[in-house]
Amino acid sequence: MSLAFSALEPVTLPIAGTDARFPLHRIYCVGRNYNDHVVEMGGVAGRDPPFFFSKPNDAIVLDGKFPYPAMSADVHHEVELVVALGPETKIFGYAVGIDFTRRDLQGEAKKLGRAWDTAKAFDFSAPVSAIMPAPQALEKAAIWLDVNGTRRQQGDVSQMIWNVQEIIAALGQYFILRPGDIIFTGTPAGVGPVQRGDRLTCGIEGVAELAVTVT
Ligand code: MN
Repeated sequence: MSLAFSALEPVTLPIAGTDARFPLHRIYCVGRNYNDHVVEMGGVAGRDPPFFFSKPNDAIVLDGKFPYPAMSADVHHEVELVVALGPETKIFGYAVGIDFTRRDLQGEAKKLGRAWDTAKAFDFSAPVSAIMPAPQALEKAAIWLDVNGTRRQQGDVSQMIWNVQEIIAALGQYFILRPGDIIFTGTPAGVGPVQRGDRLTCGIEGVAELAVTVT
């Protein structure tokens, strides 16, 4: 087989403690998975079934630079636990990531009943840390995000409405999960806008930390 033009390089993620790379397949995301965030977005706390959206896998950012996207004046940070899947839908490891969101476009899409792609699935919208191998469920760990040294988001992954195993089970009802898939598992309260020049630092206790500058 010959290609009409060169294919793009496959996207891979670093893995802590080894030179081997994680071959990235899809990026799935869970909406509204912490009740304090559900409430801050104008919803009612509860346990509605999880819902999902996705980002293209080349939305990943590994160099710590997030270029402020065009077509928005209200881009928000959402720090999230990221689950990485290996063969047989087993948990390969965890990372910390930021689900950057054009909140103004998301609000408009919600109002008009339109898709979220331009709000969620844009280029550079998914910075992630290296993956920490941990082939078991992560029950409890602090999750936090600072903007320019001030704490903006603070929670614990034990506050997730749907835990990691429940998310994998629910997502697997809609999609064929493959080795190399990663899942952003939702954000705790405290989401807010970023500006060019902001330095974001975030982390999950015992998993990873990540620093991102808005350029
Ligand atoms: Mn999110």
